[in-house]
Order: sequence, then structure tokens, then C-alpha cells
Amino acid sequence: MKYKRVIVWFKNDLRLHDHAALFSACKESSEIIPVYCFDPRQFGTVELGIQKTGPFRAKFQAEAVDNLRKNLEMLGGNLIIRIGKPEEIIPDLAEKYEAEAIFFSEEITKEEKTIEEALENAVWKKGIQTNSFWQSTLFHIEDLPFPVNQTPEVFTQFRKECEKFSLVRKIIDRPDHVNFPAINCDFGQIPELSTLGVQEPVASAKGVMQFAGGEDEGIKRLQTYFWDHDGLKTYKETRNGMLGPDYSSKFSAWLALGCISPRYIYEEVERYESERKKNDSTYWMVFELIWRDYFKFICKKHGSKVFMLQGIKNNVDNWRKDENLFWKWADGETGIPFVDANMRELNATGFMSNRGRQNVASFLVNDLEIDWRWGAMYFESQLIDYDVCSNWGNWMYVAGVGNDPRENRYFNILKQANNYDKKGDFVRNWIPELAKIQGYDIHQPSNLTKNELKSFSVHLGANYPHPILAFSKKEKTMTAKN
Ligand SMILES: Cc1cc2nc3c(=O)[nH]c(=O)nc-3n(C[C@H](O)[C@H](O)[C@H](O)COP(=O)(O)OP(=O)(O)OC[C@H]3O[C@@H](n4cnc5c(N)ncnc54)[C@H](O)[C@@H]3O)c2cc1C
Repeated sequence: MKYKRVIVWFKNDLRLHDHAALFSACKESSEIIPVYCFDPRQFGTVELGIQKTGPFRAKFQAEAVDNLRKNLEMLGGNLIIRIGKPEEIIPDLAEKYEAEAIFFSEEITKEEKTIEEALENAVWKKGIQTNSFWQSTLFHIEDLPFPVNQTPEVFTQFRKECEKFSLVRKIIDRPDHVNFPAINCDFGQIPELSTLGVQEPVASAKGVMQFAGGEDEGIKRLQTYFWDHDGLKTYKETRNGMLGPDYSSKFSAWLALGCISPRYIYEEVERYESERKKNDSTYWMVFELIWRDYFKFICKKHGSKVFMLQGIKNNVDNWRKDENLFWKWADGETGIPFVDANMRELNATGFMSNRGRQNVASFLVNDLEIDWRWGAMYFESQLIDYDVCSNWGNWMYVAGVGNDPRENRYFNILKQANNYDKKGDFVRNWIPELAKIQGYDIHQPSNLTKNELKSFSVHLGANYPHPILAFSKKEKTMTAKN
């Protein structure tokens, strides 16, 4: 063994399967001390008083850490849990418990990198080594057919080159034993959300499904969606749905916290293809995971630019900073039912479909012309599946400051509503005030006569807002990603 004792610092990699840092630590060290820190900075507030991590994700995160601890315990290990800055806590723990090295997953974006570097500096001063591992993507960074700083700007080119010249590595086995040292240690408790300054979420029965954090739940979801419900077989046709658990995989929250590995999903797709069916849908699941990779490598390539107003395209548009309009959008009070229903779903559950995300984002940036970063910050706070690269990358894309070859990514909300919620059931689910309006009419209550509105118990300006914009402001140039 190279080391006597190593700390494995868990972050957004809350699993035991396909975990390069844990696997290597088990191989190279006699004893392993797994550590997780709830970093108070993740729960602080940013512009407009928006909290970086809202209730749904905070709860999911706590559940995921709890599940990691249980799974480590089953292997003979444990997990030290602390609240505080990892770059301070981990060097102290390393010194106290005489660890010779810290192993962890490599991050991509600025805030996370800064913490990583601060930790490295702190431990190096104490003569403790660090070893970081790339492990969040389907394609390993070392297997890309181009240097990461030459990642193609256009998704299709990125995908085609990866598909042609790279292979997805096999997943790394779950360790069968984690040898925790016999030390006298306070392992720490999972904090209450109130300790983190976050409110307890109130679960809505109207959500697509109940999300519970952790590796076990992530793997269970895959079992349900792929194998029990056979959802993968029709994924390509259903993935633009908006109601119910099985129109899409719902893997995103588990992927974001690393409870499930993209390579595990990939291998399960391959198994499904050989045991059940191979078709466009099975391929499309991998296609979407490549989008996820693409945003990670684009963020790695462009660094902090992805958080800047002009984005990576250096597009200096005029963006409004109208707080009143912004909060109407965020609260689902725009008077545009398709937008409001999606935002109300997000606020009530922490989840929104991909179709919904594209529409509400386009509405904020193209129709209201509001600083796209406010939208990205709000999503960061609310989404249960917030992933720094997928979120900021997609927002840049919609805002036209990313690397989209199409100039105008405007979504015509009414046309989208007609395509994806023709009968209005999605809006009816989330805006009960409008529920009595029949069929597609629910998308334009302001087109109804006073008598009609009265018969449906809708009082515009009283129980549902007047639209904040008249339709259709822009040409019908709506396009969709795919
Ligand atoms: C403005 C905006 C913000 C977004 N923010 C996030 C975010 O913070 N976290 C996040 O995981 N996704 C984000 N997405 C991408 C996408 O909407 C979600 O990944 C998807 O809706 C999650 O549902 P699912 O797991 O059922 O997806 P599925 O359709 O089942 O897709 C399978 C997986 O592929 C990946 N994927 C699918 N679409 C995309 C995409 N456009 N970009 C990157 N990865 C994708 C996800 O990991 C997803 O879990 C955002 C999209 C938009 C338009």
C-alpha cells in the first residue's frame, strides 16, 4: 500500500459505484476516512436575495449524504459529516487523524475550483498530498478526440467526434470493503435544513413524482423507468411531455449530485438494447447524456465567461433589470398560463420538464428581455437537479450568448402550448383557478368574453392576472433544440 490513511472528500459524487477517487483510495491506502462537508456558502444568498440552494435541493442533498453514509457503513466504513468550509475542515481532519493524502473528484467551474485550490494549498503546507479524479462525464476527459480547450463550439460537431473517436470507459466496480480506521471520532450528524438556513419544503402531490436523494433511489429510478415500466423503449417520442413520471427518465437530480453515474446509465442502455430492444429511443438517451457532457466540456473550456452577461459569444445585448417583471415571472404570475404553470410547478416541486424550461427561459430573455443571469440564478436556487454546467450552459444557449449556431432561438409560447399541451391539462394541473376553461382556450383566457370568463369562475386581475405581454410580440420563429 502506498498510504496508511487517506481522506476521500465526497462532493457531487455521492455514490459508491463508478467512483474513481474511492476506488483508487481503497487500492492505495490501508485505511479510508470518507468526509462530506455541507458548505454554508452553498446556502447563502445572491442578487435579489435569491438563496443559492432552495428547500427541495437541500433536502435531496441531505438524503443523498445520509444514504451514502448508510452504504459506507454497510462496507465497514463511515462518513464524517461537518458543516463548514471544506478547505478549512478537511486539512484539519487530515492533520488530526494523520491522513497522508486527500482524494477527490475534479470540479469544472470557478467557485468549486477555487475551493479545490484552497484546499490543495492548505494541505500541501502540511505535507499532505492530493489526488483528483475526473469522473462526472460519460466520456472521460482524457479520451476526448481533441484537447478540452479545443472542444468544438457546436454540439453536433462535438457529439459526432466523440461518437466516432471516443469510447465510454467501463464503470468502476463498487468497493467490497472500506476499511475505516479505529479512531475516536465524532462522525457528525446530517444537519436539519433550518441549521443551513433553508426552509423545510412542502411536498406537492401534483408533482411528476417524489424525488428522494441517494444512490439507492437513483438506481431504483433507473430500474423502474428502464426495466419495470419499459420507458426507454419510447423515450424519444415521450421525452417532450410535461405530466407524470415516465415521459422522461427524471435521472437529472441523481446525476447532478453524482448519486448515479452517467456510465452506469450508459451500460444499462446497452444491456436494455441487448436484452429488450434497440431503437432510436435507446440511442436518444445517450444523445441527451452527450448534451450533458457537452456543457461540462464547454464550461471547462470557457471558464468564468459562462457566468458573464455577454457569455462565451461576447454578445453585448441590452438586458433589462426590471425586478417587478422578474418576480412576476418567477412567481408564475405573468398572466401567460403556459409560463405560469411551469413556474408554479418549479416552485412547488423543484422540477420542471425540459420543454417547460426552454419556454420559460425564452419568455424571460426574449419576451421580457430581462438579464438572463437572473433566470439562471433563480433556477439554481429552485431546481432539485441544479447542475452548474447544464444550467448556465442551457441559459446561455437560450439567451443567445452561448454557442448556438442558430441566431434566433425564440419560442412562441402559444405555439408551444398548442404542440405540447393542446388540451390544457398541464396548465389545469398547476393553475386550478383556470381549470374550468375547456381545451386549448385555457392558454388564452384574455381572449374569452366576460360572460365566458364568469361562467368559468375566472376573474382576470383578481384570481388570475392579466397578461403582462400581448401576443405575439415577435415573429413566429420559434425553434426547438431537437
Ligand atoms: C434553461 C435550462 C436550464 C436547465 N438546467 C438544468 C440543470 O440545472 N440541471 C440539469 O440536469 N439539466 C438542466 N437542464 C436540461 C434539461 O432540461 C434537464 O436535464 C431535463 O429536463 C431533466 O429531466 P430528465 O432527467 O427527465 O431528462 P431526460 O430527458 O430523461 O434526459 C436524460 C438526461 O440527459 C441530460 N440532459 C437532457 N437534456 C439536457 C440538456 N438540454 N442539457 C444538459 N443535459 C441534458 C440530463 O442529465 C438528463 O437527466 C436545463 C435546461 C434548460 C433549457
